[in-house]
Amino acid sequence: MTQAPSSDQPSDQVRAAARSQARPVRFRPALDGVPAYKPGKPPTPIEGVTHFKLSSNENSYPPLPSVLEAIADAASHVNRYPDPGVHGLRERIAAELGVGADEIVVGPGSAAVYDQIVQALVDDGDEVVYSWRSFELYPICVAARGGRSVQVPNTADGRHDLPAMARAIRRDTRLVIVCSPNNPTGATVGAAELEEFLGRVPAHVLVLLDEAYLQFDTSAAAVDGLDVYRRHPNVVLLRTFSKAYGLAGLRVGYAVAHPRVAAALAKTGLPFAVTDVAQQAALASLDAGEELDLRVTSVLAERGRVQDALREQGWELAESHGNFVWLPLGADSLSFGRIADAAGISVRPFDGDGVRVTIGEAAANDVLIRVCGEFLEAGRSPVD
Ligand SMILES: *Cc1c(COP(=O)(O)O)cnc(C)c1O
Repeated sequence: MTQAPSSDQPSDQVRAAARSQARPVRFRPALDGVPAYKPGKPPTPIEGVTHFKLSSNENSYPPLPSVLEAIADAASHVNRYPDPGVHGLRERIAAELGVGADEIVVGPGSAAVYDQIVQALVDDGDEVVYSWRSFELYPICVAARGGRSVQVPNTADGRHDLPAMARAIRRDTRLVIVCSPNNPTGATVGAAELEEFLGRVPAHVLVLLDEAYLQFDTSAAAVDGLDVYRRHPNVVLLRTFSKAYGLAGLRVGYAVAHPRVAAALAKTGLPFAVTDVAQQAALASLDAGEELDLRVTSVLAERGRVQDALREQGWELAESHGNFVWLPLGADSLSFGRIADAAGISVRPFDGDGVRVTIGEAAANDVLIRVCGEFLEAGRSPVD
């Protein structure tokens, strides 16, 4: 119930506002250091120009009919809470990977599972080591928990500098992140260098291998994450249904973690976080694995087509192993972003560093190829 304010007295709301101005709510000081997450921009609508969103590494294919059917079935009982233990999906993933269900932790997106990992490990002042530039969420969750990010610069060709990362591990390090293929540079780590690196990481430090783009890495030298996981009790794998499986909007991802680690992660996740709609869609996607793999194959063909065309234009590109390409444009990154936007494709520029462009439908990729060609013809350099 609200009370009408009398005309000559300040209302309760006005008095409360004055009080809160004098003594504002106090937030944890750690929040001052939390960078804002910048989501991929939707394209700017321009009259007469078809626009495509290539800024969030989404899958451009709509959900399969069989997945939509599972979603519709699950939608009919959203008056009920989902299974908080996510049993069906965990058992199914475990069976596919040949691990125990007690080694699978499912969360609302692998981003959330990553936050659970940070929450389980990082106290005020603890350190997290990772390569930079990499996934934008890494620094955000670390800072929000009061931890310290130790960012080790990528090599000139966008790869992790694993020896430097090993040297960056100190007494307060709790977690090291390896992102392979790396978002946004598309580079991978090699099996031998990863093994050598793991040999240098103390056993009490957790190593997170983020494999969000696993399915797009078809190189012969690709790391076998599961094999690495089995041999190292301090390794955790992070995987998602958002990219290759096209369920970004439903939020479902998971960690493969040794039971003691998995039990810790279970404590930092909220109950009922993964909806039944998401659980059923993920199960249906696993059922449709072959169909979804075909889509991945066509993304890879398009990635090859785009990279070939750009190299022909004169771009010097390192090979990308994700569903995106990386243009190391340095100081030209933001201006490239604006030019692309005006041509109908939204891309992801990182100021002073480079531009990440998702491989989309063929028509969208054609626009990218055209924009890249015109950019060079306008006298811009293909490398910074
Ligand atoms: C997209 C992405 C994720 C997280 O995706 P979710 O949608 O939260 O599962 C995690 N890591 C990297 C490197 C990514 O690019």
